[in-house]
Amino acid sequence: MTNSMGRLSKSTFLSGLQCEKRLWLELHKPEVLEELSSSQEQLLEQGQLVGAYARDCFPEGVLIESHGNSAIVETRKAIKDQTPMLFEAAFQTQGLFIRCDILERTPQNAWQLIEVKSTTKFDSNLHIPDIAVQWYVLEQNHIPIESVNLMYINSKDCVYPDLSNLFVVEDVTHEVALFKAGLPEKLSLFQHMLSGSEPEKPIGYRCSHPHHCPIKPICWVHVPEKSIFTIPRLHRNKSQKLIEENCLAIHDLPDDFPLTETQQRYVQSVKTNRVEINKTQISTELSRLAYPLYFFDFETFNPPIPRFDGMRPYQQFPFQYSCHVLDKNGERVHKAYLHRDESDPRLPLTKSLMSDIESQGSIIVYNASFERRVLNELMDAMPQYAEALSGMIDRLWDQMLVFKNHYMHPDFLGSASIKNVLPVLVPELSYNQLAVKKGDEAQAIWDQMIREKNVNQKLALESALKDYCKMDTFAMVRIHQVLSSL
Ligand code: SF4
Repeated sequence: MTNSMGRLSKSTFLSGLQCEKRLWLELHKPEVLEELSSSQEQLLEQGQLVGAYARDCFPEGVLIESHGNSAIVETRKAIKDQTPMLFEAAFQTQGLFIRCDILERTPQNAWQLIEVKSTTKFDSNLHIPDIAVQWYVLEQNHIPIESVNLMYINSKDCVYPDLSNLFVVEDVTHEVALFKAGLPEKLSLFQHMLSGSEPEKPIGYRCSHPHHCPIKPICWVHVPEKSIFTIPRLHRNKSQKLIEENCLAIHDLPDDFPLTETQQRYVQSVKTNRVEINKTQISTELSRLAYPLYFFDFETFNPPIPRFDGMRPYQQFPFQYSCHVLDKNGERVHKAYLHRDESDPRLPLTKSLMSDIESQGSIIVYNASFERRVLNELMDAMPQYAEALSGMIDRLWDQMLVFKNHYMHPDFLGSASIKNVLPVLVPELSYNQLAVKKGDEAQAIWDQMIREKNVNQKLALESALKDYCKMDTFAMVRIHQVLSSL
């Protein structure tokens, strides 16, 4: 989509609805935008795959292949030629350029607009502005619209290999019509704002909703590390009030500011720099462990278009695990599995799991609900391993619960996540030097690795994935050592 100075695209217009400063910087200083992460790139790629799959559902559709003004000319010609359905039709009005996923001619010679999304439901905050902008531009181009619709992923009933019902189409004409009425005013406001200097906008809830803003590293540079945004589950109205009062540091928070008990505990621990450790409870939790200890972690993937038998859209499947095994003499060995190609990883991974994890010993994980869900889904997919997998579920021990319930440190920054806990407890161990640093990046890299044809490149990606997953479980071993020494 063309996005040059002076012409707004649908996506920049939507940026403007989120924040005028974002729109101004996207058009005037695009070099300051944060680069896309590998997981954001993967989301875009998945969206494109879903769009292409949706087009395949309509063999009569014609794709407008050119770009910019040529696409507008091509679209006009296709409409004049009585084409029944257009993909990526292009239109422009008052400097606002859009492309429509699907435009279908109706028997009344009007049109049905269909916007394709890779979400699993209609989200009014996200989808109404998006569709309204297109409808407005179509209207200005004298394209009569009979209905506007959202085509999204059917995650309830669609099961691979039958993808005939992958999409649900929902008529959202009524919801979008109301919003559309306010767009001309917005458009002239944006155009006026863009001809001036960079607008001043305070930070706020909008910086992450409905999307993460790529200007955040700049606008949030003055936010201190121990900020009010680290207070667990602080309501947006409260944080907004504090922003308006320029109270961003926890140290500046008034003592009578209304907080829940958990929030108050965290705030006090920051203000007094106090560490709270319930050694008795931690010792009781540790005494439940049985050797050998398996420090275990899955990496999973959940594509919108399911790939393997019996799987629904967005259903997770594991493609990798890492496991450090520690016996009672302190001897430690590492076991791992990484699926290397595009075939279904579930059976080979489960077989490997059966040989790596024996029938005795605690399985230490970080956030057990995740591993429990993955193991349950493996049980459903492979009933022949149900008994062994169910036995593993019974042996799960959640290390994160220690940090949720019995250990609070101001430097955890209000979170019990391993990424926050590790640097405090084991500062010499860090994810920073790894090529893959987060779980969602691991998904993106795996999806790239299994399709990679260049052998050296594939090996490099494999190595990055192995290092990351191994680090997750080694971090748990080191955290366990710290907890045991208490
Ligand atoms: S980070 Fe927030 S204030 Fe800054 S441009 Fe983005 S939305 Fe606007």
